[in-house]
Amino acid sequence: MVVDCIFCKIIKGEIPCTKIYEDSKTFAFLDIGPATPRGGHILVIPKNHYELITDLKDSDLIALTKTVKKISEALLQYGEGLNIIQNNKKVAGQFVPHLHFHLIPRFENDGFIIDRWSSNKYKEGEIDKIAGKIKSLLK
Ligand code: 5GP
Ligand code: ZN
Repeated sequence: MVVDCIFCKIIKGEIPCTKIYEDSKTFAFLDIGPATPRGGHILVIPKNHYELITDLKDSDLIALTKTVKKISEALLQYGEGLNIIQNNKKVAGQFVPHLHFHLIPRFENDGFIIDRWSSNKYKEGEIDKIAGKIKSLLK
């Protein structure tokens, strides 16, 4: 039982939103604070409450992916390009703890800020060490 989740309340209609699409397992609506002045920034969420991508049950995975693809098809016509971003935990920029995908239509010179990270370099031997560590964590 989840208490006080803003996105759960939006799904239930307790908080208003501008809905774009809904089916039995997923919900898509306009982000209240679009990432560019051109707007059209959409949040796609599962109706079941999960916090992180790793919490998502396989039974909701296909429906969610399909909705992300469906909305992406529309947004690639609305804009000139598209970024899909999904934040997990505060340190990665997640402020609403209900799993969500940001679908952000892009336009030439739209002023989007986190467009491209600065590219770092691995130290000697570090790339294999990190790859080994991550592979050892795979289930
Ligand atoms: P996060 O930073 O957690 O990845 O993204 C949360 C997003 O939810 C933000 O982009 C924010 O603008 C959006 N948001 C927060 N509260 C509301 C709301 O009440 N309605 C809508 N439509 N979007 C919201
Ligand atoms: Zn929720």
